[in-house]
Amino acid sequence: MTEPLAFEKSRASLPGPRLPAAGVPEVAPADILPAGALRSTPPRLPRLSEPELMRHYSRLGAMNYSISKNFYPLGSCTMKYNPVVNEVAASLPGFAWLHPYQPEDTVQGALELMWDLEQALCAVVGMDRMSLQPAAGAHGEWTGLRMIQAYHEDRGDERTEVLVPDSAHGTNPASAALCGFRVVEVKSAPDGRVSLPDLEGKLNERTAAIMLTNPNTVGTFEEEILEIAEMVHAVGAKLYYDGANLNALMGICRPGDMGFDVVHLNLHKTFTTPHGGGGPGAGPVGVKHELEPFLPRPTVRKENGHYRFDQERPKSIGRVRSFYGNFGMLVRALTYILAMGGDGLSQASLDAVLAANYLRSRLDGLLEFPQPPPCKHEFVASARSLPNGIKALDLAKGLLERGFYAPTIYFPLIVPEAVMVEPTETESKATLDAFTEAVAEIVRLAQSEPDRLREEPTSLPVGRLDEVAAARNPVLRWSPRAAD
Ligand SMILES: *Cc1c(COP(=O)(O)O)cnc(C)c1O
Repeated sequence: MTEPLAFEKSRASLPGPRLPAAGVPEVAPADILPAGALRSTPPRLPRLSEPELMRHYSRLGAMNYSISKNFYPLGSCTMKYNPVVNEVAASLPGFAWLHPYQPEDTVQGALELMWDLEQALCAVVGMDRMSLQPAAGAHGEWTGLRMIQAYHEDRGDERTEVLVPDSAHGTNPASAALCGFRVVEVKSAPDGRVSLPDLEGKLNERTAAIMLTNPNTVGTFEEEILEIAEMVHAVGAKLYYDGANLNALMGICRPGDMGFDVVHLNLHKTFTTPHGGGGPGAGPVGVKHELEPFLPRPTVRKENGHYRFDQERPKSIGRVRSFYGNFGMLVRALTYILAMGGDGLSQASLDAVLAANYLRSRLDGLLEFPQPPPCKHEFVASARSLPNGIKALDLAKGLLERGFYAPTIYFPLIVPEAVMVEPTETESKATLDAFTEAVAEIVRLAQSEPDRLREEPTSLPVGRLDEVAAARNPVLRWSPRAAD
C-alpha cells in the first residue's frame, strides 16, 4: 500500500517524451532570455514513461478518501455530494475558456451569471447586495469585517472591538484580529447558546460588531437572536453572520430577517462546489443597504438588459481578490441552485436536519450528548465517557479503519472530547445505519480491547501519524539535495 514518489521511481536512462515538431523556427533560450534568467543545470524532473506516470497517479488517487468513495461526516464542513452536472456546466467552453481581461461586451453571459447568482444568494440570506470576490469563508469574514470597519470610520465613529462567542469557528477571531480589531470572547450558556448576561456586559460604544453562527457550532439555534440583534444595534454595532454552513436554513429562515447586517456563505459547503484539499473555494459576502457603498470593487450592474462592471465605488474597501473571484465555483453554485429550485433548497435543509436528528438519536447511548435534542444540521457528541482512556481521537481513527471519514474532533472547544457530526441531506438511511454500527463496534472494542483500538488504523496506507512532528517540523516538499 505504499507508493514511492515519482522522483524515486525516476529512471535516468529513460529518454523522455518524443514531441512532434512545433512548426515554428527553433530559438536558442540565450537569444531571448537575459543571462540571469537562464539556468545552468537542467531541472531535476522525474523521468517516467506515460503508463508508469498514469499508474502512479491512479494509485495515489485510489489511496485518497473522498466524498465520491464513502460517507464524510466532517462536522461544520458540509461534505455533501457535489452533482456531476455542475462540472459539466463549469466546463462548457463558453465559461471555461473565458479570459478575465476580455471586454465586457464579449462576456455578457458570464456577467449575467454573476448577477443571477448574486440575486439568488441575496434571496436565500435576506441581504440587499453581495460581493462574489472572496475566495473562502475566512476571506469572506475578513471582507465583511473590513466593510463594517469602513462603515464606522466613514461616520467618524472609532470602534475597536469585535465580540466572538467561545463556540465560534477559529476563523472568526482570526479574521477580526487580522482587521486590527481586539477580539472579546462571549461566553456560552450550558445549553451551548450565547449567554445574554455575558453579552450585555461586553457590549459598549467600542463594539464594532459581533460575529455569530446560527445554528451555532453545537448545532443549536440561537432562539434569542432577535433580542441579541436589538441589544447589538442599540449600542451602534453590527451583526455579522457566519453562514459557512447554511444547510439548516435554506428557504426556511434568513439571517437578514434575524437582524444580521452582513453574511458570508461558503459555496464550497452549502452550494455543492467541491472542497477539501485546499481549494479553490468561494465565500461571497452579502450586506444590507447601509453597508452597500463599502462593497469590494467591482460589482456587476444591470442596465437596460446589459451587464457591466461597476468600478465607480468611491467608498469601496477596494478589490479583495484578483479579477472577480473563483468564477468556476460561481458557475457550479448557480447550476445547483437552478437545478434544485426554491422548493428543492428548502427540502435539502429539511432533509439535512432530519438526517442529523436521526443519526443523533441512533448514537444516543453510545456517546454522550452535552446538549439536548433536537439539533439542526449537525450535532456535537462527547467521547468523554468512553472507558479505558479511549479518546475522541481513537474513535476517529477507528472510524477510518471501518471505511468512514472521521467526524470533526476537539471542536467546538466548549465541549470536552468533542465529536462533531454532520451527515448532510445527501446520505441514505442505510449509510447512517452503517455508521452507527461502526460506532457501536468501536464502543465495544473500547471496553474489550482498548489496546487494539489504540493501534488502529492498521489497514490503510498510513497508520497513526506523529501529528506533533508533522505540525512542528513539516516536510512539504521533496528536495533533490535531501535525496542525494
Ligand atoms: C468552514 C467554516 C469557516 C471557514 O471557511 P473556509 O472556507 O475554510 O475559510 C468559517 N466558519 C464556519 C462555521 C465554518 O464551518
